[in-house]
Amino acid sequence: MPSTERLYYNDSHLIEFDARVVDITERVSGWAGIVLDRTAFYPTGGGQPSDTGTLNGARVVECIDDGENGIIHLVQGIEPELGGEVRGRIDWSRRLDHMQQHTGQHILSQAFVTLFKATTKSFRVLEQSCEIDVDLQNPTDELIEKAVELANNVIWEDRQITIRNVTSEEAASLPLRKDPAREGELRLIEIDGFDLTPCGGTHAYRTGEVGLIAVRTWERAKGLTRIEFVAGTRALADYRRANKSAREIAALFSTGRDDAPSLAIHMMQENKELSRRVRALEEVTAGIEAQELLAGARTRDDGTRVIAKTFDSKDADGLKQIAHSLIANPRVIALLGSREENTARLVFARSADVDDDMNSKMRKACALLDGKGGGKPDMAQGGGKHIEKLDEAIRIAAES
Ligand SMILES: [Zn+2]
Repeated sequence: MPSTERLYYNDSHLIEFDARVVDITERVSGWAGIVLDRTAFYPTGGGQPSDTGTLNGARVVECIDDGENGIIHLVQGIEPELGGEVRGRIDWSRRLDHMQQHTGQHILSQAFVTLFKATTKSFRVLEQSCEIDVDLQNPTDELIEKAVELANNVIWEDRQITIRNVTSEEAASLPLRKDPAREGELRLIEIDGFDLTPCGGTHAYRTGEVGLIAVRTWERAKGLTRIEFVAGTRALADYRRANKSAREIAALFSTGRDDAPSLAIHMMQENKELSRRVRALEEVTAGIEAQELLAGARTRDDGTRVIAKTFDSKDADGLKQIAHSLIANPRVIALLGSREENTARLVFARSADVDDDMNSKMRKACALLDGKGGGKPDMAQGGGKHIEKLDEAIRIAAES
């Protein structure tokens, strides 16, 4: 079976090339797997997604590295002929983006080694950002930003990036950032005076092409530090998104971007204080409401006052508050309900000096409402969906 000459190995900026079709394998209906004698398409691998582009105008949606069998181009549309010549063209904006992320990763990974002897264990290009898992213990924003600063300095020094092909014996005496994953001849990527590492990917000609590196966020994961970063055009896209959301938030406070966080903190504190005051006022209101209910309560033969009452739209806390105010009085049973949208709520409570079981009353009432609830002998709550039976449930509880 044919192997494929990898043109991207020698020139990462080659966009157009001519090649011959040496194999065609049917993959999925309507799609063909095309193997060429040579290609500029980078196949998925090493944490980097594959190139896309065209072969004689037909769409190349993905490329797969099939080892000795060569690189398979998954082509949609018109299928080139076996043995025929094709013109390949890769999507440059996607290639540039991947080169910026990938070369940026070489630089950032070396920055962590230089500063903290922290090696990179894995790398992934995601949809909008990239991730590296770094063996950095006790990470802080300050430490990570130091590495970002060094990486950006290396980018702005516009250092040359060269490819060196060496034997594994030669490689053994070189200061490689990571161990080669394979035997035989090795392809080393050298960033002048900064980094030397074996890699089969596509890289920028000079560090300046990476443009910028910024860290979005980081977290501890599996004993390592997982760092999410963006490079090049992704850094600009990320800045635009971040700036947009920061300005939208600032506009809510009629202020500038930089002043928004302190105003947000101030508003949250104010909101907390207001909630506290509302709760205090609700307690007072519940007390007054309870006194009115007590005044109109029915008194049983044993001297217990029974308050059976249905409210419109009071939440569970509101009901409980009135119940607490009522049972603070001696010899009181409070059987309270409320309708809120599609739910019937119930709170049953009694004073400490009344001998009656609110829990069993609640279970019966909830069965009628087709809901659930329960609690203790002196206080129980529940609810159900049959709102139309709420009054009946409370009446039965009052009579039992
Ligand atoms: Zn690389």
